[in-house]
Amino acid sequence: MDNRSFTANVSPGDEATVAGWVHEIRDLGGIAFVILRDRTGKIQVKLEKDEMDGEMVETALGVHRESVISVTGDVEAEDRAPTGVEVVPESVEVLAEADPELPLDPSGKVEAELPTRLDNRTLDLRKEEVKAIFEIRSEVLRAVREYFRSVGCTEINTPKIVATGTEGGTELFPITYFGEEAFMNQSPQLFKQLMVGSGLERVFEIGPIFRAEEHNTPRHLNEATMIDFESAFVDHHEAMDVCEGTLRAAYEGVIESCEAALETLGMAEEFSVPQGEFPRLTYEEALERVNATGELDDVLVWGDDLSTEAEHALGADIGGHYFVTDWPAEVKPFYIQDYDDDPEVSKGFDLMHPRMELVSGGQREHRYEELVAGFEEQGLDPEQFDYYTKMFRYGMPPHAGWAYGVERLVMTMLDLPNIRETVLFPRDRQRLSP
Ligand code: ATP
Ligand code: MG
Repeated sequence: MDNRSFTANVSPGDEATVAGWVHEIRDLGGIAFVILRDRTGKIQVKLEKDEMDGEMVETALGVHRESVISVTGDVEAEDRAPTGVEVVPESVEVLAEADPELPLDPSGKVEAELPTRLDNRTLDLRKEEVKAIFEIRSEVLRAVREYFRSVGCTEINTPKIVATGTEGGTELFPITYFGEEAFMNQSPQLFKQLMVGSGLERVFEIGPIFRAEEHNTPRHLNEATMIDFESAFVDHHEAMDVCEGTLRAAYEGVIESCEAALETLGMAEEFSVPQGEFPRLTYEEALERVNATGELDDVLVWGDDLSTEAEHALGADIGGHYFVTDWPAEVKPFYIQDYDDDPEVSKGFDLMHPRMELVSGGQREHRYEELVAGFEEQGLDPEQFDYYTKMFRYGMPPHAGWAYGVERLVMTMLDLPNIRETVLFPRDRQRLSP
């Protein structure tokens, strides 16, 4: 296998071995073609029945679609071949047979419903436009990591099995941990804050989060991947700057490295990096603006969360990414700091895409007394979080941060209708396997 060439890299005059899946067999009588597909593309293999070794021709034409074969031969120019070259084989080896009946048609000619696709993800990813999504997702993660490094972050990994949740009990998945109750973590929030108070100062984590969201929606998963950022000595506005930088880095990375994938998705022309500074509306301004659209049945008043309907109306009105800042303290979690001169208002923010929320973040409460008071106000028992609050007594710098959903970033970037399109093996109310 070491000496195999990628289909995209061979040129006329080469003697090459290519290997991959049988995409299609076209038998025209005296001549037949096998279209072989690997991760770089497809190539035509020409079989001339009267001129070539009979056994070899039989082997090549005897396999079912999606079998894996290896072909060695001369590469020749051929204008009528889809890629302008073809392989004239000297030998054909079958490496793995595929059953004649496939649960899903990887050529995409027969469309499959999402559940069938997810049940057979391996075959589903053989479709170019599905594979393209995951190549882009991979690039997003690479670009984001590189950006974090460029602003001095250390990558961390924190526990996913925890004794207490981050944001109250409702969305927690309980598990049994050697006979004791434990939970799958909803967010690395508290751990990343603890690391800000360590000598690391500025950290990021890309990892799974688990939320027992009751309802199936097109933008919620029960297991998602979160991009978390947290930094000492910055306020919420500086955290928003890093958030914008991360988003642009992701888009830029995709433009630079994923041209073919964008082409496959039919997005090469329209795809662009969001320009200009994202507007930063206070919550109060957001309410006024959304009420002024006249799109809502009920007028929103101070203290209301932005409903999906409100998010859409505001998104359509603004027409691009935007931040909502200065949320009512009561709708943001205990670890978000409130303004000293206006404790009803918090330093929490959200980054919105016109279709949905992408990020939540804020300046954190780093003062011990205020933090503990906040716990009590939200009906949480500070004792349970002693491992966390205690560290705020030993020199916790002012800090801020945020968390992104990777899937929502990819989903909005590629204008996908359902978040499940961006996850290999989604977890939702109906789906626990594969
Ligand atoms: P929403 O209100 O949209 O349910 P949230 O405010 O509960 O989201 P946060 O706790 O703020 O979510 O999490 C930060 C980010 O993580 C969200 O902005 C979103 O991008 C992503 N996220 C949160 N929950 C989920 C989920 N269940 N599935 C996919 N992504 C999620
Ligand atoms: Mg949020």
